[in-house]
Amino acid sequence: MQTVNTLRMLRTALAQLRGGNATIALVPTMGALHEGHLTLVRRAKAEADHVVASIFVNPKQFGPNEDLDAYPRQLAEDAAMLEAEGVALLWAPDAAAMYPPGFVTNVRVAGVSEGLCGAARPGHFDGVATVVCKLFNQVAPDMAFFGEKDFQQLAVIRAMARDLDLTAPHVDRIIGVPTVREADGLAMSSRNRYLMPEQRAAAAALPRAMQAAAAAITGGTEVAEALRALEAELLAAGFTAIDYATLADAASLAPLEKLAASPARLLVAARIGGTRLIDNLAVGS
Ligand code: AMP
Repeated sequence: MQTVNTLRMLRTALAQLRGGNATIALVPTMGALHEGHLTLVRRAKAEADHVVASIFVNPKQFGPNEDLDAYPRQLAEDAAMLEAEGVALLWAPDAAAMYPPGFVTNVRVAGVSEGLCGAARPGHFDGVATVVCKLFNQVAPDMAFFGEKDFQQLAVIRAMARDLDLTAPHVDRIIGVPTVREADGLAMSSRNRYLMPEQRAAAAALPRAMQAAAAAITGGTEVAEALRALEAELLAAGFTAIDYATLADAASLAPLEKLAASPARLLVAARIGGTRLIDNLAVGS
């Protein structure tokens, strides 16, 4: 595996990889890799000739009071994991390579980026859309893999790629991969390592309460009542705040008061101390 950190090196390495017409899959990450990320890589490897992974802790998607400086960075360890999975190329630019002096452009996706995490984290999805747009243009992959763990992020990226014609001739396919979970159901996340042992134990209440709420809603319980019970269960388990607990249309992410014919998704963001956890589940399908 080759690791590159300048655009010039990236272009040279990509040209070599493409050769005649080999296909390339992109797996964008912020590093601190776990089995969730590696599952994306394995899916990508199964579908493309070569996998390009990126590691970039994107300052533009962190708010002023968020964990940019504390975010775990372990490039050597991550590179070894990616190499072991057969990744061909690691694109690991620093912030100055991604945003050279004078950088002034912002990609903003209205609608789908505005509620849920977009409401709690102003500017977050602008940062995500801007960097993913750049990654798509830099790598020009045939396909790109993202986790359903970040369900709203995936919706924002799909909308951005569609609206900005990034879907063809490259990034023909944006592929969502189901959430990879720990044995107790907690969605894997680089942020789980912030949790103290008793917080980590309490965090398992999140997927458990969400499963219960999804089953209740599917079984006919009123959505508002199921969401109230979910919030109460999280607070009783040791969560300190709920940013949101919402049933939404899976495509538009517009809130739903009851199940409809189109697919629905239960989405929750909740805090334990200083750590914010998110999760989502399909409901009724
Ligand atoms: P991150 O490094 O947190 O920005 O995540 C990089 C990619 O991995 C994103 O597409 C995430 O949605 C995906 N990802 C993170 N955690 C998981 C997980 N537990 N299961 C599946 N995909 C994940």
